[in-house]
Amino acid sequence: MATQFTRMLAGRNTAVVLASLGAGTLATGYLLTDSTAAAERRVLYPPSADFPDLRKHNNCMAASLTPAIYAHLRDKSTPNNWTLNQSIQTGVDNPGHPFIKTVGMVAGDEETYEVSDVYDPKHNGYDPRTMKHPTDLDSSKITSGVFDERYVLSSRVRTGRSIRGLSLPPACSRAERREVERVAVMALSGLKGDLAGRYYSLGDMNEREQQQLIDEHFLFDKPVSPLLTSAGMARDWPDARGIWHNNQKNFLIWINEEDHTRIISMEKGGNMKRVFERFCRGLKQVEQLIHERGWEFMWNERLGYILTCPSNLGTGLRAGVHVRLPNLSKDPRFSKILENLRLQKRGTGGVDTAATGDTFDISNNDRLGKSEVELVQLVVDGVNYLIDCEKRLERGQDIKIPSPLAQFRR
Ligand code: ADP
Ligand code: MG
Repeated sequence: MATQFTRMLAGRNTAVVLASLGAGTLATGYLLTDSTAAAERRVLYPPSADFPDLRKHNNCMAASLTPAIYAHLRDKSTPNNWTLNQSIQTGVDNPGHPFIKTVGMVAGDEETYEVSDVYDPKHNGYDPRTMKHPTDLDSSKITSGVFDERYVLSSRVRTGRSIRGLSLPPACSRAERREVERVAVMALSGLKGDLAGRYYSLGDMNEREQQQLIDEHFLFDKPVSPLLTSAGMARDWPDARGIWHNNQKNFLIWINEEDHTRIISMEKGGNMKRVFERFCRGLKQVEQLIHERGWEFMWNERLGYILTCPSNLGTGLRAGVHVRLPNLSKDPRFSKILENLRLQKRGTGGVDTAATGDTFDISNNDRLGKSEVELVQLVVDGVNYLIDCEKRLERGQDIKIPSPLAQFRR
């Protein structure tokens, strides 16, 4: 949920979700309705008395939420009874994050996003009223996708997928969560060949097995992040959580962490093209297996794939490498170079960890507005640029800050 979202607010996602949440008419079928409990509360206290104190906050929600938007939406709920107050609670409880600017809100169900039609076209060019979100899973289009392994230690591509009709992790009941697990595990048992594997339920693992998978970077962290707990996503932990992986441990699916499913392809070394090829092949098969069993993923033309955190809308795709950059990371231009290439850095232990030593998790900053192929190519080109800078600095040569890439397709 926490992400790279720094410029997204000025950019797009939150604009769609919050600015659009804010205003007026509702273009889609999911009109928010007044809930009875909320209506009773409204009589007691007006929205102005209920508006959260956001003065010390540094997240996208706090920057967007005005008393007017709050007044308009406080007493509404989706058909599953999900409210704005529930959406923003994680952002209210977590004014800041040590390493990244967070979004500060989550969705409880697919309909959470279906409340808008007012979108400000100033927001950096992505207009979901007129644009269709592109999807492209043809990995053969990637060029120069094998990195110099003196620098790149591992390569990974992940996305998330949500099962339509079931509430998302911040809102789901225990029964819905177990249903997600049942549907996903049943479908995954149909994977064949190099993708064949099995499911490991968190509840059946001992502490040592769990910690080993975390240390090897295969498994999500324990629910220690306050972003996760405040959003209600750690409820009932570890009930219905687990990891499915193939025998080679290079195609993995997380069940019921921040999203219903997270689908991951990864391996040691620098062959991003091969990682993406397996990602596309596996993802298509998983989708087909889900369909064959009468289920489908949450998706729409405007916003692409629907996930818990607004920052993952679109492709949900984060392609990244663990890369060693001892010289470049000490150069004062490092941050600006990453920003202009629309890349993000994290510590190698995941989003809640600081970078230690010279190795970073470098990945695409945006998930929306570009296709999967375009995002992976952006990471390939960007990481090759960083490695080139690192080599130049090793030789005592100068480096250049590249001109900024556009966030969205024009
Ligand atoms: P995500 O965006 O997939 O949720 P997180 O930052 O939460 O990523 O990290 C989840 C786990 O994935 C962590 O253990 C992290 O070390 C691991 N990871 C992320 N990128 C890579 C990579 N390129 N190589 C190896 N492990 C990675
Ligand atoms: Mg994560």
